[in-house]
Amino acid sequence: MFKSKPLLFISLFIVISDILFVGVNYYSTLNSLKSDTRKWAKDQQHIFNLLLEEKATSMQQIAMYVASDTNVQRLFLFGKEMLASKGGDFSAPAVQYMRTKLYNSVKSSWTEMASKYDVRQLHFHLGPGSNSYLRVHRPEKYGDNMDEVRYTIVDANKNLKPTKGFETGRVYSGIRGVVPVYATNINNEKVHVGALEAGTSFSDTLRILREELESNITILLTQNHVEKNMWPDFIARTFTDKRTIEGYYIECSTLQDVKTFLTQGPILKAIRDNLEADIIHVDGIWQFCSFPLQDYHGSLNPSLPDAGTVVVWRDASDKWGQVQQSLITNIVFSIVALVLIELALFTGWHISQNHLNAIISRQTSELQKLANYDGLTSLLNRRAIEDILQREMSRFNRYNTFLTVMLFDLDHFKKVNDTYGHNVGDEVLKKTAELIQTVIRKNDYAGRWGGEEFLIIAPDTPLDSGVQLAERIRNEMATYEFVEVGSVTLSIGVSRCERGEKLDQLIRRTDDALYLAKKKGRNLVEVGV
Ligand code: GH3
Ligand code: MG
Ligand code: MG
Repeated sequence: MFKSKPLLFISLFIVISDILFVGVNYYSTLNSLKSDTRKWAKDQQHIFNLLLEEKATSMQQIAMYVASDTNVQRLFLFGKEMLASKGGDFSAPAVQYMRTKLYNSVKSSWTEMASKYDVRQLHFHLGPGSNSYLRVHRPEKYGDNMDEVRYTIVDANKNLKPTKGFETGRVYSGIRGVVPVYATNINNEKVHVGALEAGTSFSDTLRILREELESNITILLTQNHVEKNMWPDFIARTFTDKRTIEGYYIECSTLQDVKTFLTQGPILKAIRDNLEADIIHVDGIWQFCSFPLQDYHGSLNPSLPDAGTVVVWRDASDKWGQVQQSLITNIVFSIVALVLIELALFTGWHISQNHLNAIISRQTSELQKLANYDGLTSLLNRRAIEDILQREMSRFNRYNTFLTVMLFDLDHFKKVNDTYGHNVGDEVLKKTAELIQTVIRKNDYAGRWGGEEFLIIAPDTPLDSGVQLAERIRNEMATYEFVEVGSVTLSIGVSRCERGEKLDQLIRRTDDALYLAKKKGRNLVEVGV
């Protein structure tokens, strides 16, 4: 196919350029999808943290609202004083009585809060530290100390300032807001009683993210974190097998049966490796990101391990499809370009080849002409006419045909040259050649034999026809009037070729006849014997 090396190299170069073009384009579209994914991941983390903050603040406001009720403050203080008078015995009937009174005072507003404001827990703690006095959401559990678990409470009671954040308790993990509670005692003094906490789960926050960002999101808590903080029976009750994956508990998710998705190899690996952002191919194509979840204590003390991981993903098959589409477009484009360039290249090559060939063949035929024809008269030259004579003599010997040849010589030509000059002599020679060619037949050959001598070969021609032809030429010449010179005659020797005769013999016989014609007075035709 490739007749030339340069063409092969140019084609190879184009193919390599094409491949590079497709490769670089694919790499850059893939890269832009990846950087788009990284930006998306940052946004997800940012928005998640904002919503978390917002939710914790609203929990704080709810706690503040309940804690500002003087009746609630009074009952909480009575309870604390009663407990102190019973030596810290939570199960003492008088203590139970006071707790029930506090419970009844907040029960109706609690029910309303729970249904309208997505509050999941309301919890009175006695300070200092964190001693559970009343879980409004689970009144049967009380009296436990949570100094090692509930840093939001411990800090609120210690610093007498509101706290907020994500924290895992004995019963529940959630977003919490905590405020210190004060009350006025019988001496009309304002005293600090403890802390009130309102908390909620992630589900509301996740739902907003799901609706606004069209991403799926899952909160995973490390098993270590959960087991350190929650009571075992609550762990068992909350985190069934469906909500447990290796190393993690599924705290909350926008997807119903999320375990199936998360336990797929590449996803599980991405979670374990804390993969920040990437495209993951598994049962679809996903933009995936994860970022650490810190609880309240962890956010104050960064050296602590993360409480868990937030995993976000969304369908990226459209974006991926665009990358593939642009790949296909580029490949098609490259192939079309390749074909067009190759076509142009080959066509151009062929045109220039044909052009070159034409020049070569023209030059070759010109060279052949130069080699075979006489420059002055344009008749066959001596060598060419001899070759033809040789060929015609062989043919004559092979087949039973005729062959007649004749030699011409201009009469007194030396005188023409001497009188009118060499140039005029040349013109006479040229014209004589023209005259000969108009008289002879198509099959006859005429050549310049020497200075002013010509040879004519008449194949398939018997002697008498040859003599007639010679006479015609002689007559034509004798009657022609040359410019300046006037009439110039010629003498002719004619011979028929004999079977088995050699070329030299035939020529000698003809030349002899010509000599005879000259001798007899010129302007004559003589037959060689
Ligand atoms: P004849 O043949 O009748 O005996 O007399 P002639 O004068 O023709 O004979 P000769 O052979 O002595 O002279 C031939 C002359 O032809 C000599 C030469 O000057 C001339 N001649 C030969 N070739 C050329 C040529 O190419 N151009 C010109 N102008 N003259 C030529
Ligand atoms: Mg001569
Ligand atoms: Mg002569």
